[in-house]
Amino acid sequence: MQYRRLGRSGLKVSVLSLGSWVTFGPQLGVDSASKVMEAAVSAGVNFFDNAEAYSGGESERIMGQAIKNLGLPRYSYVVSSKFFWGIHDTPNTKFTLNRKYLLEAIDASLERFGLDHLDLVFCHRPDPNTPIAETVWAMHEIVSSHKAHYWGTSEWSAAALTEAYAVAEKYHLHAPVMEQPEYNMLHRDKVEKEFAPLYENHGLGLTTWSPLASGLLTGKYANGVPDGSRGALAGYEWLKDSLTSVEANRKVVELTKVANRLDCTMSQLAIAWCAANKNVSTVILGASRLSQLEENLAAEPIIEQLTPEIMSNIDEILG
Ligand code: NDP
Repeated sequence: MQYRRLGRSGLKVSVLSLGSWVTFGPQLGVDSASKVMEAAVSAGVNFFDNAEAYSGGESERIMGQAIKNLGLPRYSYVVSSKFFWGIHDTPNTKFTLNRKYLLEAIDASLERFGLDHLDLVFCHRPDPNTPIAETVWAMHEIVSSHKAHYWGTSEWSAAALTEAYAVAEKYHLHAPVMEQPEYNMLHRDKVEKEFAPLYENHGLGLTTWSPLASGLLTGKYANGVPDGSRGALAGYEWLKDSLTSVEANRKVVELTKVANRLDCTMSQLAIAWCAANKNVSTVILGASRLSQLEENLAAEPIIEQLTPEIMSNIDEILG
């Protein structure tokens, strides 16, 4: 497993990591989640991604219990949570990044994990109703009080991040270290264009999500939604149109020919392609079963096989 610096910070994360959205809770209980995490650790994965809102807090509880079951020493892994959506239906606990919410959310998250600190905490979305300065101060305090080591954002705009950097610089506060954007073969503009100045100017690191576009890039949605897949799960109907898009699935058929030439699976090609971007610190994988994770972790050696010729062939297919 290769390890990359999280942006300009000194923290090293495995280039492939594991997240728990959709899976921990609805698809994987403590035992199966522990097995999946054990396989990830054996392969060298050191970063596990989570969020307060995943399964209403249950995902953090399961991950915390799995860490305990596996007896992972605290120094050996990096674990995250994200705040914004909230799990309690009151004006100050939903869709907010205000000071009260953030400083209470971290404590509740630590309790669910059964840990005394996290490594990474993210503002899960921007909040237009809280001044960015208030959010930066609150995140700074979470880091200063050792409840987390680094903070960052998820799906913020480059403009909002630039404002956050300015506040942090003015008041000598801990600044955002990483962003968590969607990044995959079908969704690339934010990472490749909008954020381009931030890597050099601010040392922004990326922990990217949905490398398989929720499974579309495995090729399994070519003939509709298979039973037992994310597209068939109750509550995820909103994904159906994108998963079964004729145009996207046509591209996947063409990309699969590239994967065949490299003697890898379509999933492995899609994951390796994300990691081939050097601004990506870690590609967060998702897996609803062990066999998927094993297949996906084997994408790591494919990264080096993505020559400029293959990358431009992929670009031609993607259009
Ligand atoms: P992917 O796009 O890789 O989708 C993962 C899903 O695809 C799996 O759960 C599984 O679903 C299916 N799959 C994976 N591998 C295979 C395979 N080899 N063959 C067949 N099917 C496969 O990633 P996610 O969307 O899960 O995102 C990864 C992580 O990113 C999340 O866990 C979370 O930590 C983070 N994330 C962050 C967001 C944010 O806003 N910051 C938003 C979304 C995710 P199934 O078997 O059910 O079909």
